[in-house]
Amino acid sequence: MVSRVIPVDPFDLVIFGSTGDLAQRKILPALFRRFCSGQWPDDVQIIGAARAVYDRDAFRDIVAESLRTYAAKQCQDADALSSFLQRVDYVPLDALSDEGWDLLAEKLTVDRVRAFYFSVGPRLFGPLAESIKSHKLATKQTRIVVEKPFGHDLESARALNATLARHFTEGQIYRIDHYLGKETVQNLMAVRFGNMLFEPLWNSQYVDHIQITVAESVGIDGREDYYDRAGAMRDMVQNHLMQLLCLIAMEPPAKFDPDAVRDEKLKVIRALDSVEPHHIVRGQFEGDGPSYREVVGNPRSTTESYVALKTHVSNWRWAGTPFYLRTGKRLVARSSVINVMFKDAPHSIFGADAGRHANVLSIRLQPNEGITLKVTIKEPGPGGMRLVDVPLDMSFAEALGPENQDPPDAYERLVMDVIRGNQTLFMRGDEVEAAWAWTDPIIAGWQARGDVPKPYESGSTGPGDAELLMKRDGRRWQGINP
Ligand code: NAP
Repeated sequence: MVSRVIPVDPFDLVIFGSTGDLAQRKILPALFRRFCSGQWPDDVQIIGAARAVYDRDAFRDIVAESLRTYAAKQCQDADALSSFLQRVDYVPLDALSDEGWDLLAEKLTVDRVRAFYFSVGPRLFGPLAESIKSHKLATKQTRIVVEKPFGHDLESARALNATLARHFTEGQIYRIDHYLGKETVQNLMAVRFGNMLFEPLWNSQYVDHIQITVAESVGIDGREDYYDRAGAMRDMVQNHLMQLLCLIAMEPPAKFDPDAVRDEKLKVIRALDSVEPHHIVRGQFEGDGPSYREVVGNPRSTTESYVALKTHVSNWRWAGTPFYLRTGKRLVARSSVINVMFKDAPHSIFGADAGRHANVLSIRLQPNEGITLKVTIKEPGPGGMRLVDVPLDMSFAEALGPENQDPPDAYERLVMDVIRGNQTLFMRGDEVEAAWAWTDPIIAGWQARGDVPKPYESGSTGPGDAELLMKRDGRRWQGINP
């Protein structure tokens, strides 16, 4: 099955921070792949901006190099590359000064979608919003795209929301959480709300518990300063894991419309129980290579590179069903997966020897995006009624053909959604604030108690206490499999 490409209208996209890691590794390659897929009209302008002084051709050379590195697999057509680069321009500009903005204004096209992507450090979000407005670059068709981190706590998130709201309407602000752009995450909504099969079972009566794991094998190289101020709770749980939890737990929205979806997600965050200190485990990696403290150059750092926690969504649907979340750096494998663990059958007609068999719906975000349902069947062959669990694999490649083996990167979808003006997969300001309101007391509790993270071996599954968190409840984590 060949996926349909719906063309977008002509647009101008300005990328502040266009020479940085995110722009070069993710945003520009995503744009190029969409260009190669034929989603663009001819008349599109991509304008890079950063302080470094380059002329247009020098910047195009930089972009070409990145595209060869990060987009070659999807698009090897030399003509396409040169055609894409024709649409790329550059303006040297400092977000904190008034210079460069007039040149940018001259290059922008009147009367079309105008998107400004803030691919810069968060301290520049406010000044950029102010400068876009004061230099009269904002039109009715203007959108701004803001990267994480969106605030450091509730107070800073509120302040940032207020600054952006002084210059732009909520409908013009696109707060990116790239997890929401992943094919499987959207498929999760399709599976839940497009089938009769799952929704009747999607509650505490049939679901024993939910596990959300975002495990990374990499460390924090290159982001040491930021990470040591943030930690896993702020860097991963407050945003990515929270968003995944919302999509699992939310009520069916009345329609697949940005505010209908985001209203339901917000209700989930507001229904989250606060986390008891004994229901949360923090860890810091060590052993096998440099320890966390060596990496960040801070021998007394108490920042966590791992978090596991148990929480509840206190509403009718989920009362009594725990949600276990865990994320960490330098773990045994890179694996992001949501496991919906169904309850055991109420009575086994096959006797105690048949063992316990519960269905598990696994939603894999990376690697190998796909959805698997573990079901119990009879082991083939004679010799009695032996039961075995087998996966029903809803892999994209098998079901939809090899051309869907490599789903588009999240940034491809999200950047095109900005151009189309679809905010469904972006976080609303009140969602972000509600997530911080839940996160802040947890972090404040650690600080008040002088909590020190538990060490765990690099390359392991995390601290032993995280296993205990489950064991105490008579449960265990599913494996972290690549
Ligand atoms: P980066 O590699 O440090 O790049 C920063 C960019 O901002 C550079 O192009 C830099 O170029 C430009 N810049 C810095 N100060 C500027 C100023 N005063 N005026 C105009 N441009 C300025 O950072 P990054 O990794 O790309 O991250 C960018 C943002 O995305 C950050 O908020 C980060 O937290 C977020 N993010 C990044 C990733 C990732 O995978 N990298 C993932 C999620 C979120 P000049 O120095 O030439 O000005």
